[in-house]
Amino acid sequence: MNKILPICGLAVSGILALSACISINDPDRVAARTIGNEHHNGTKQILSVNTLTEQNAGAREWSDVLTQNARLHEFRVLHTGSVRVPREGVLHLEDPAAQDLPEDDLFVDVFAFWFCHSSAGCFLIDSGLDESYRTGQGGNVRGLMAKNYIMDTRQEPGQDIVAQLDRLVDERHPLKGVFFTHLHGDHTSGVPAITSQPEYRDLRWFAGRDENYVNYFLLYYGDHLANVQTLEEIDWTAAPIMSPLGNCVDIFGDGTFWAIATPGHSSGHLSYLLMTDDGPVLLTGDASHTGIGFERGIEPGWVWNRDLARSSLRQLRAFKRKFPNVSVIYGHERAASDG
Ligand SMILES: [Zn+2]
Repeated sequence: MNKILPICGLAVSGILALSACISINDPDRVAARTIGNEHHNGTKQILSVNTLTEQNAGAREWSDVLTQNARLHEFRVLHTGSVRVPREGVLHLEDPAAQDLPEDDLFVDVFAFWFCHSSAGCFLIDSGLDESYRTGQGGNVRGLMAKNYIMDTRQEPGQDIVAQLDRLVDERHPLKGVFFTHLHGDHTSGVPAITSQPEYRDLRWFAGRDENYVNYFLLYYGDHLANVQTLEEIDWTAAPIMSPLGNCVDIFGDGTFWAIATPGHSSGHLSYLLMTDDGPVLLTGDASHTGIGFERGIEPGWVWNRDLARSSLRQLRAFKRKFPNVSVIYGHERAASDG
């Protein structure tokens, strides 16, 4: 473990987040505040961070949410390639429940997710991989430490995020924005390719409150957010606690799309619950990279705060136990039952 530096890079300093929740149908209600500039090697990273300040309606019961009629449409898991990583990064191998697992490397899938809301348009969750990952050369993450995290890559023709968006986006299905689970390189790597397309210049970009952007020049960097003018924070801290999960933000205000605070793997990590036409889907993000970690309760090896990573995973597992009909998709692995 010791040879792996924790991925938890440069903080967007001085963020004084306000209260919670958003209504993205009504941008005027989003408080825009320029709070700082991050410059690395002359490359502009995040020009400003908005804090989202619209209070939502208050706590609801999951049993009501999971039986509601309002749904998201067109939900798709976009498999954008695979990366080879050390198992000790995706699973804390010192956990007693991991004693039988080998200390080897493994290829894990890198996803983005696509859905459409009935009035707000279509969105991605995470950005997937761009076509630089086809070469097996580490994609668009560089630096002396990059090979410690992404050791090898695989991608089939047409799997890169822009190729997949080309097949999904049309006049009836406009891409409006991207919600990140967190800002690690394998989740932000598709951003430069997306922002280079003229039709995607006006997207909105959302991450969890106080999520650190990982970009260590010389060590581990990709400048993935260089063309993201504004990163909007979802401030979950004043959102209702919805047991057995923690703070949960009803993004559209209609119960179809929830951001769930699951800090630990990273500082502002979010999981998401989507009420899709095919039923409820829980995206753990990297609160659990793999199915075996979820089943055995083994948190990732790569963590920003191990205690928080453990408690976030415990809450997600309790939610799945209480609502077994919810499909779970892990950060880097689809459950077999989800096809
Ligand atoms: Zn991660």
